[in-house]
Amino acid sequence: MIDTARIRQEFPILSRQVHGKSLVYLDNAATTQKPRQVIAALTRYYSQYNANIHRGIHALAEEATAAYEAVRVQAAQFLGAASEREIVFTRNATESINLFAYTWGRAHLTAGDQILLTEMEHHANLVPWQLVAKATGATLAFIPLTADGQLELKALDQLLSARTKVVALTHMSNVLGTVNPVAEIARKAHAQGAVVLIDAAQSAPHLPINVQQLGGDVLVLSAHKMLGPTGVGVLWARQALLESMEPFLGGGEMISDVQLTSSTWNEVPWKFEAGTPNISGVIAFGEALAYLQRLGMPEVAAHEQQLTRYAIAQLQQLGHLTIYGPTQPGVARGSAVSFNLDGLHPHDVGTVLDAEGVAVRAGHHCAKPLMRRLGVPATVRASFYLYNTPAEVDRLIAALKIVRAFFNRPSRIHA
Ligand code: PLP
Repeated sequence: MIDTARIRQEFPILSRQVHGKSLVYLDNAATTQKPRQVIAALTRYYSQYNANIHRGIHALAEEATAAYEAVRVQAAQFLGAASEREIVFTRNATESINLFAYTWGRAHLTAGDQILLTEMEHHANLVPWQLVAKATGATLAFIPLTADGQLELKALDQLLSARTKVVALTHMSNVLGTVNPVAEIARKAHAQGAVVLIDAAQSAPHLPINVQQLGGDVLVLSAHKMLGPTGVGVLWARQALLESMEPFLGGGEMISDVQLTSSTWNEVPWKFEAGTPNISGVIAFGEALAYLQRLGMPEVAAHEQQLTRYAIAQLQQLGHLTIYGPTQPGVARGSAVSFNLDGLHPHDVGTVLDAEGVAVRAGHHCAKPLMRRLGVPATVRASFYLYNTPAEVDRLIAALKIVRAFFNRPSRIHA
């Protein structure tokens, strides 16, 4: 069981006031708040052992290198990777996807090949593939959605063929909360010889992740969505796959030798980490991973499932709204809950909620094709994390009642 009262004391920001009200932070799918341990790791690095890594022979450089590389081992363990050599540090999930789409995509895709995505992808898992499709002549295809925001798996069997060279999909939708059956999809994709990329930006913060069980070939995440700092992402890929890929960015660190007109590459994963990385960020990400591991990802998931069920029930009770994504009790879903109040624009709802101290996201959530599929320009999204409580769900519901009262004022209706 997650002890939210104790946990909340470790997140300084959660005790601040917004517009004179105590903050209710429900925008965790965008980014999560940071515990003291993560903030302290940043300060400790800059105040005690700030140095560039891999290059120096002095004590500070050795300490910084050891701390940075230790997080690679930690990340490999967190994900169940076969080796830390399979962990590439990037800036974020977006860069991880771009890295793979660019290097692997341009080397392997040709005209007539198919890139299979889904209709619920974040722009980060759409646009890089559009770019590589344009460059190679490969075509894009999409697994459609059911009415309740799940993948239409029947269509998958029709879409998959020997032409399908890569299947890239989100593990958990940042809008709908849907948890996709990636292991089953990966099995089917592999049977056709396709490579599978799993976008775990939304799942890795919330669910136990084991890359072997998920069965993909590549998995990406962003540290800032799982208690870590901004500016750090992970690309996990099977070592043989990484070794087969050309570098993404060229520069210092990623080379073995450099001549004036040619170079040879460093071993993986350093071949993909050109230039000075986000050293402090990676080290602080290690504290975030340790924090999550201390709590236990199954406990984190159980807490959020309970809270999400409660939130959905309370929203349904409020009525006169549409919830997008699965709401049936037996269906696996994450803690992002998107909805619209009848007759009200999500931005108006978000603005009044903010005035009540409740931080949610209102917009297209970087998933414009999904918004079109849902037939709405935008939604309100409340997304929960390990420090959120049922009392905060109650604050959300109370604030939504204030939204309704505000916009139903006779003066506005008759204006
Ligand atoms: N994929 C999904 C499903 C996301 O929700 C996000 C961010 O919201 C991303 C990718 C991109 O993450 P980042 O902006 O940290 O690269």
